[in-house]
Amino acid sequence: MMKNKILLTIADGLGDRPCESLGWKTPLEAAKKENLNAIAAAGSSGLMDLHACGTPVGTDLGHMILFGYGLEDYPGRGPIEAFGEGLLLQEGDVAFRANFATVDSANMVLDRRAGRIRTGTKDLAHLLHGYKIDDVEVLFQEATEHRAVLVLRGPSLSAAVTDSDPKKEGLPYRKVEPKDTSIEAARTADLLNRLLPKFGEILADAPLNKERTQAGHPPANFLLTRGAGQMPKLAKMTEKYGFTGACVAAESTVLGAARLAGFNTITESCLTGNLDTDVERKARLAIDALKNHDFVCLHFKATDLMGHDNNPTGKVHAVEHYDTMLGYVRTYLPEIHDANVIVAMAADHSTPCERREHSGDPVPIVIAGHNIRKDDVIVYDEMHAARGGLLRMTGRMFHDFLLDYLEVMPKRGN
Ligand SMILES: [Zn+2]
Repeated sequence: MMKNKILLTIADGLGDRPCESLGWKTPLEAAKKENLNAIAAAGSSGLMDLHACGTPVGTDLGHMILFGYGLEDYPGRGPIEAFGEGLLLQEGDVAFRANFATVDSANMVLDRRAGRIRTGTKDLAHLLHGYKIDDVEVLFQEATEHRAVLVLRGPSLSAAVTDSDPKKEGLPYRKVEPKDTSIEAARTADLLNRLLPKFGEILADAPLNKERTQAGHPPANFLLTRGAGQMPKLAKMTEKYGFTGACVAAESTVLGAARLAGFNTITESCLTGNLDTDVERKARLAIDALKNHDFVCLHFKATDLMGHDNNPTGKVHAVEHYDTMLGYVRTYLPEIHDANVIVAMAADHSTPCERREHSGDPVPIVIAGHNIRKDDVIVYDEMHAARGGLLRMTGRMFHDFLLDYLEVMPKRGN
């Protein structure tokens, strides 16, 4: 059992810029946040650039960095989505994001989302999972609505292939082409060009699609692929450093990055990834996870959604909801008797409302606990954090800091 444990709370896309509708305050500055402030007051604050100054990152890479990886480890969207849907990839696997789609007999894409099909995709996935083509095995997993993940497992594969998704309706699906001159890329493109029509036949014959056609719904009779990524050799951080981790989240991307790092994942249907998520339940799950894990990550999504919606008032509400979650965390924390819990607060990137997208603005961080140096910052927001004792660091440095508090970072020198 570790002497210290870490609880890392991540407010997705938290960082912002001054908003006119908030009297030129950021949503974090404008929100009521007594719990966030109390945690900031109990430790040291600072700013974090996830990858580098002024470099926006996606939620997938941002979380990989928070879990200890770097840009050089990023396997592409497909593999992280695969992990998010529970497919544990091996080195060399090539993963694609896929859509169930509707095509006609001339291969024209009539609906890229098969009428946003919501039910029955599990049965369709069963028909495809485990299919063998040459010496390659196909892993296939349905995701939310029309989405799915397709994985090729076998020797000599490559992610250097184009998408079959034309990204527009009324066009034929695209032939997959190799993006480089390697044998592996040519082989992977050829495999897909044979596999996708075959899967189309299997799907078209599925009872569900016959029912859909009879009911006047577009059949899910084809798969459009995109976002190929090949799984590199990546050590699980939990195994590399010898600790146990858990992640409480609703979003599959976050769960995927956590699984990749070797963290156990905890999710329930009442965790919605939106403003209506059950923050009391989230806090409860995180505290319970701390009882048998060294490092627990607690993710909150709604802050990012409000930034993408350019909704400063909504983002203030999201921050206040996050603050409520931290209030429950503070209430339940005394249940952990066997270790000193260090609470860290961070974000995976900024999502400024005015930008409606991720930006490279640094995010405010806090590390707090009995044995943590305390600065004189008592407010959690972007500008107060800039005056804190942690100064400014990269996501990798922040992660290393946390692992050193777990006392698992190897000492260099003698
Ligand atoms: Zn994010």
